[in-house]
Amino acid sequence: MTRTYSTQIEAARMGIATPELEIVAAKENRSVDELLPLLAEGKMVIPANIHHTSIDPNGVGGMLRTKVNVNLGISRDCKDYNIEMKKVMRAVELGAESIMDLSSHGDTQPFRRKLCTECPAMIGTVPVYDSVIHYQRDLNTLTAQDFLDVIRMHAEDGVDFVTLHCGITRKTIEQIKNGTREMNIVSRGGSLVFAWMTMTGEENPFYEYFDEIVEICREHDVTISLGDACRPGCLADATDNCQIEELIRLGELTDRAWARDVQVMIEGPGHVPMDQIEANMKVQETLCKGAPFYVLGPLVTDIAPGYDHITAAIGGAIAAWSGAAFLCYVTPAEHLALPNVDDVHDGIIASKIAAHAADIAKGIPGARDQDDRMAKARRALDWDAQWLEALDPETAKAIRESRMPEEDHSDTCSMCGKFCAVRSMNKALSGEVIDIL
Ligand code: SF4
Repeated sequence: MTRTYSTQIEAARMGIATPELEIVAAKENRSVDELLPLLAEGKMVIPANIHHTSIDPNGVGGMLRTKVNVNLGISRDCKDYNIEMKKVMRAVELGAESIMDLSSHGDTQPFRRKLCTECPAMIGTVPVYDSVIHYQRDLNTLTAQDFLDVIRMHAEDGVDFVTLHCGITRKTIEQIKNGTREMNIVSRGGSLVFAWMTMTGEENPFYEYFDEIVEICREHDVTISLGDACRPGCLADATDNCQIEELIRLGELTDRAWARDVQVMIEGPGHVPMDQIEANMKVQETLCKGAPFYVLGPLVTDIAPGYDHITAAIGGAIAAWSGAAFLCYVTPAEHLALPNVDDVHDGIIASKIAAHAADIAKGIPGARDQDDRMAKARRALDWDAQWLEALDPETAKAIRESRMPEEDHSDTCSMCGKFCAVRSMNKALSGEVIDIL
């Protein structure tokens, strides 16, 4: 059937239920009629570039299941496309709905195209990183047109969403120079845009040429993920004037993208104390009129290098419960090194736990079903049924099998062995003798 609309939001505004919306509604246990107005209003997005042939679409919105993004890509230390592709597919198997390709070495296009032809997850990129790599020129020699051309290339390659640091301006330079921030700018893309502005003396090209960027995104149905260059990089910088002023600008840019029927997500903090997370979510929701919030963490303490998948999962759970729609995973290697395969695994599982815990608290339809099945399997001491419900069955099974209980209590686990409360209660309630000794 010929497509009569440019983007998912335009279709929704025309009252058209796209095939992607139908898939999303089925996955979310919701009706198309319920989701169509939310898509039309921009409160949910379906990032699905028209050239991403292998996509299994997902919706992103505070009222939907919380989605998880995993950052991967080719780097100087990991150049093998096939190894990186295996990591991508493993991430998808573990439940990641999105892969951000942050490739930073060599010719990045073949890997990006491979992702868009083979990977079913949403694919995101940060074109400003790739600009330096693509042109192999110093940052200060790149022009605004160069940046726009890279966005167009990513859109044509099939990328579903692009992170663009449109919200910082020349005013931000003064704020940072004269301000009291402990960690200045910690966003990699944000720091490149900031450096480009200071070196060239020009305005942020992603802000100045935003309307041209919107047209590129409209043509290919690329969702704009408005990056938070000023996300706090430590608790001391949380919710400061730089962060909030940028968020106000992101709200204004959201309106401009929506006016051209282009889907928008907003990226958010960062490092935030637990007591400020809910307020941050509400401020974003108000300033950005309900556009889905994509949060990087938030990390709730600065002092746990090696365990930042946990600090981020705590913050991510609170953020998602308070309205965030999309969590960017954080690995134990955050702040320390490029994550290895184990770090990627631990980061995904931590984010999935945070997302799932929030979905239960939010009352997302069907979110608790798996937990209820797990409770039944535990009560029955049915270990095979437990593996079916576990987020990470391989790890769970390996732990149990490495420390099995005594032979005549093999239906229990070695945690309590013959004092297994579940076993004792099952026997007591069915009138059987409890053979502890
Ligand atoms: S032994 Fe203890 S921890 Fe293990 S299943 Fe029984 S009650 Fe649960």
